[in-house]
Amino acid sequence: MFESVKLVGMTEIVQIGQPPLDVHLRRSPRARRFSLRISNSTGVISLTVPKRASARAAIGFAHEQEAWLRRNLAKRPVQVVPVFGGCILLDGQKVELRQGTRRAPILGDGYLEVSGHEYALGARLRGYLKTRAREKMMAASEHYATKLGQDISRITLRDTRSRWGSCTSDGNLMYSWRLIMAPPSVQDYVAAHEVCHLIEMNHSVAYWQLVESIFPDYRNQRNWLKENGTKLHRYQF
Ligand SMILES: [Zn+2]
Repeated sequence: MFESVKLVGMTEIVQIGQPPLDVHLRRSPRARRFSLRISNSTGVISLTVPKRASARAAIGFAHEQEAWLRRNLAKRPVQVVPVFGGCILLDGQKVELRQGTRRAPILGDGYLEVSGHEYALGARLRGYLKTRAREKMMAASEHYATKLGQDISRITLRDTRSRWGSCTSDGNLMYSWRLIMAPPSVQDYVAAHEVCHLIEMNHSVAYWQLVESIFPDYRNQRNWLKENGTKLHRYQF
């Protein structure tokens, strides 16, 4: 059984199995037991280690979980780096990336023309998707806010990992621009979801009734995000 511990900054990394898997040990004063997780976005494996547990016990635990780790790593969606001739998602549809000459990207039937070198493609796509996401989420937020008689103040687009949107009590909305890759009905649902938080800052029964009143089909869209949301994070722009 091959194992080693190396120190990288403040993190201890343990390697287990063959080919070796890097397991990042994180000491936690509050943890009561070992817990292992794989980051959705980066694939980094981290093992939370209770303060009093020995490194030996942590390594032992990691070894016991090796089969589980390999199974779950294999299930992770493959990362996609956009290239000309490849595809990305836009409004839930696959669009082929083609090299164009115009300054601004041109969306055709099933394809997107983007100018410049391939190494700049990711950055150009990010800008394009963010702009489209802003327009879409702005319009959808205003639409649902009007239905509720509410005002929205500001909309911010980010590349968030753990949430698709958020809302503050003073009417500032935040969305992940990756939503522009999801079907339009999902984008609408997320806007309706956040706008309802202007009235109910929780996920109570009253809150979900409010969502249903302006967006009756919310369950299907919410399930779509649960089942397919990680796919939107595959793309490395
Ligand atoms: Zn919510």
